Amino acid sequence: MLDKVVIANRGEIALRIVRACQAMGIRTVAVHSTVDRNLKHVAMADESVCIGPAASSESYLNMPAIIAAAEVTDAQAIHPGYGFLSENADFAERVEQSGFVFIGPKADTIRLMGDKVEAIRAMKAAGVPCVPGSGGPLGDDADENIRIAREIGYPVIVKAAGGGGGRGMRVVHSEAALINAIATTQAEAKAAFGNAMVYMEKFLENPRHVEIQVLADGQGNAIHLGERDCSMQRRHQKVVEEAPAPGITDEQRAEIGKVCVEACKRIGYRGAGTFEFLYENGRFYFIEMNTRIQVEHPVTEFVTGIDLVAEQLKIAAGQKLTIKQEDIVLRGHAIECRINAEDPESFLPSPGLIQHFHAPGGPGVRVDSHIYEGYRVPPNYDSMIGKLIVHGPDRETAIARMRVALSEMVVDGIKTNIPLQQRIMRDVGFQNGGQNIHYLEKRLAERKGRTLPIG
Ligand code: ADP
Repeated sequence: MLDKVVIANRGEIALRIVRACQAMGIRTVAVHSTVDRNLKHVAMADESVCIGPAASSESYLNMPAIIAAAEVTDAQAIHPGYGFLSENADFAERVEQSGFVFIGPKADTIRLMGDKVEAIRAMKAAGVPCVPGSGGPLGDDADENIRIAREIGYPVIVKAAGGGGGRGMRVVHSEAALINAIATTQAEAKAAFGNAMVYMEKFLENPRHVEIQVLADGQGNAIHLGERDCSMQRRHQKVVEEAPAPGITDEQRAEIGKVCVEACKRIGYRGAGTFEFLYENGRFYFIEMNTRIQVEHPVTEFVTGIDLVAEQLKIAAGQKLTIKQEDIVLRGHAIECRINAEDPESFLPSPGLIQHFHAPGGPGVRVDSHIYEGYRVPPNYDSMIGKLIVHGPDRETAIARMRVALSEMVVDGIKTNIPLQQRIMRDVGFQNGGQNIHYLEKRLAERKGRTLPIG
């Protein structure tokens, strides 16, 4: 097993990783920015190193500082969590070149998946179903781009090859808007990701977001752990996630899962990963692969009973996967609500001091959060302050447990989106299940227009 791990992240995921390490007898090093000295996982870790000021560019994205922290603490491996440097191939490479284990896939795999054009090419070649599209980057020839769009059929979506986090995408409904949209997306992509390359896909009008969790040891063994439905989104950001996805049959799951497992074996994938698909009219369309642990991983942990972070650590230690595909049995239903420090109406971030905090509990309730009474949410980072995850024998029970848990949860001093999550849980459309990725925004817009409560 690994001996000592540096956790190159903050907040709830850093805490999640410290907990996993401690349960496995692995020592931990928390690296943190100056405003994050009081994070819960910093207090829990065996050692901590301040790596820079609040700005993530100078701390959590500061590769030399993080690698130096591993050196001075004589650690063996670096866990990047999600976000920050987790999908940065150069970082993975530098970590390994410095003699440490990067807890994730090989740098080449991250590089391949980070370029969406190349990722789609590789996945297509591996037999993974993809969205009909340009099949490659768009060039400067306007006539050719118009031809491609006609062939795909409007609406189309122009996407940045280097995009992420729901940014760098533009939907085009007609030929008149195409050329401008390509130029604007290219300019934005260049500014945001340092890569102007864009490609084109059919814009699926009413898809659901369904993703497959995989684990692979990079030694020829891979399994899938079923799917998650993450269709409740606002501005391409997931708000609620669940497992299994309503209406997906065992046959469908086995079929798409097998495709993902084969793709993992073919590209020599190592670690935990997620194949993201849009799902429409009974078909899966690959959009991208995330080469890291995801925010929503606990719903899969609940229904499979597998500790995904522990598996990441074992794989990073060079162990072979001991779980077989037939060991993966989905039990019951799990739902996760992301808890954000934001105004539930305007969605503006609401950092500040947490005056009171009560965590919910009871059967099948899990709270993954770093907050505590007296903790000050800094304005410098993502507004997510935790996740509330519930499990029940069926979806109805899970929703009921989530409703109780949300009503029990108290976070005073700052605004949170708990009222929004409560409305979602009460919403009949959500309760019916299987809504598409536009559903939440549509309901929010209706509510605004007619001041009707959602639900
Ligand atoms: P990112 O890496 O920025 O998350 P994705 O490719 O995963 O980008 O897309 C994010 C979201 O954008 C999807 O969950 C979906 O809501 C929407 N989206 C992306 N591609 C399409 C498409 N071809 N048709 C419809 N919606 C899309």
